[in-house]
Amino acid sequence: MKGSMARRFIVDSMLGKLAKWLRILGFDARCNRIFSIVQIAEWGREGFIVVTRNRRWGSQWPLVQLTPNDPMEQLRELVRFCGIGREEAAPLERCIQCNGELRQIPKEEARGAVPDFIYQTHALFHQCPGCGKIYWLGSHPGRIKERIRRELGWTF
Ligand SMILES: [Zn+2]
Repeated sequence: MKGSMARRFIVDSMLGKLAKWLRILGFDARCNRIFSIVQIAEWGREGFIVVTRNRRWGSQWPLVQLTPNDPMEQLRELVRFCGIGREEAAPLERCIQCNGELRQIPKEEARGAVPDFIYQTHALFHQCPGCGKIYWLGSHPGRIKERIRRELGWTF
C-alpha cells in the first residue's frame, strides 16, 4: 500500500498536531501555509488532499475542511471523510518531526547514536534522511499505539 497509491496530504500549518499524527500513521503529511485557491488546485493535480479548518477556502476537492479543534477529532473526521482504512497506515515509515521517509540502516550505524541499551536490545534501525533522527521498533511507544487503537480502532 505504498508508493503512488498512498494518500498524501498538505496540512494547513495551523494543524501541526494533526500532521504529526498522520506521519505517525505513515502518511505523507506536509505542513504548509495555504495561501491561494490556485495553489490548492495545483496541489490537487499533484495528488494531494489539502486539509484545513479555515473556512475561507470553501470545501471543494481536494480541500477537506475540518471542524473540530482537537487533533484526534480532526484525525477521526479526516479518516471518516476520506474513507481511509487501517491497511493504508504504515507506522514507522515516516519521520514524525520532518515527514522524511525512513530507510533501514545497518545496525552498526546506530551504535553511539542511540542509547546503549536500545542498541543492545534491538536489531532493526531506521533513519530519517531529512533530519538524521534514528528510529527503532518501539520508538512509537505503547501509549501512542494505545491511543490509535482507542481513537480509530486500529491495532498495530
Ligand atoms: Zn526527519
